[in-house]
Amino acid sequence: MQDNILVVNCGSSSLKFAVLANAGQQTLVEGIAERLGSDESLISIKYQGEKSQSPLIEGTHKEAVTVIKQWLDQHPDILQGLVGIGHRVVHGGETFASSIIIDEYVINGIEECAKFAPLHSPAHIKGIEVTFELFPGIPQVAVFDTSFHQSLEAEQYLYPIPMSYYRNHGFRKYGFHGTSYRYISQQLAKTSPGSEQQGVLVAHLGNGASTCAINHGQSSDTSMGITPLEGLMMGTRSGSLDPSLISFISQAENISQDAALDVLNKQSGLLGVSELSNDCRTLEEAMLSGDERAKLSLDIFASRTAKYLASTATTLDSIDHLVFTGGIGENSVYLREQICQRLKAFGIKLDETKNQQAPRGEISNLTNEGCQTQIWVIPTNEELMIALDTISLIQK
Ligand code: AMP
Repeated sequence: MQDNILVVNCGSSSLKFAVLANAGQQTLVEGIAERLGSDESLISIKYQGEKSQSPLIEGTHKEAVTVIKQWLDQHPDILQGLVGIGHRVVHGGETFASSIIIDEYVINGIEECAKFAPLHSPAHIKGIEVTFELFPGIPQVAVFDTSFHQSLEAEQYLYPIPMSYYRNHGFRKYGFHGTSYRYISQQLAKTSPGSEQQGVLVAHLGNGASTCAINHGQSSDTSMGITPLEGLMMGTRSGSLDPSLISFISQAENISQDAALDVLNKQSGLLGVSELSNDCRTLEEAMLSGDERAKLSLDIFASRTAKYLASTATTLDSIDHLVFTGGIGENSVYLREQICQRLKAFGIKLDETKNQQAPRGEISNLTNEGCQTQIWVIPTNEELMIALDTISLIQK
């Protein structure tokens, strides 16, 4: 049976896509439409090792999906095998505890969650509506970043604020990166059988970054909150801080509180501290050539990651595994080492040589002799997880 799945990831100004085949094992074509909504929007498509780029005239999500459909029309071997479309959806609130086939009820549910993800949810809905229009008859599935964390206990997901805010408005921790954590949990179970009955800590460190504790295969705590701003320091996000700062920044800089929040989302984190870049690779290069501020930004990142790993670990009986994933977690030798150093009170000990020699893009074990916690690098693959969920739901 043909099982090509189109995976679509609509952001507010971008649309990433890929067609996966052979139970998600093979990527036939992939690409990204960027700077949507501006005069400079363009779409890049990578096929058989070759990358082609073309400008988008209207720069809308609809135009991007139309170009993808036209490309597929010219590659009927791929189009004819297309059996489903999987959408990454950032926020599913308390409505969606697992992936689901999209119908009117699901679209309404995503719309209701838009208050918590005002940039992403409208883009998701646009993407879903356009794909329904251009790919009639092909079932579509929504895969939510939040659903893996619906297993959190109330003592983890409730904020200590008046309970009526939760009852009336749904203000609580939801958590994100759930598709990645679910994938990591499954990969770890394949690599280290029995881990699904143990305590696992995962650091998903990319431009967005969070930690998750997985107890017996279920998320028991995570660092992100009602939005992806809570928790770790990130590329441009501050992560957690004293909420009074919003009012202080607003007054001191004579900007609105919304503008101050925007500063915490877009001008803070690694970029804010280093005053150089939000990109870890650039900062590591700068550090190596003596830039003290770049080093400080990376060290704060390490310190706050360690702190949140320790904090999320309070929901585990034991820390049997610690997994690094995401662009930084998979590639930054320096940060893995700095984070583990700060967790020595928990008996975490990284093998320096294994850390330095960890092969790119592969699962590797970095545990030092005598350390009770198995330390891993596991590359994440959210597209694959979305494709697998889509196949499994449309087969039912
Ligand atoms: P992601 O959002 O998961 O794609 O991760 C992006 C982050 O990973 C950026 O900060 C990159 O600089 C970082 N990254 C990717 N490759 C490396 C590398 N070889 N060394 C350090 N950081 C890296």
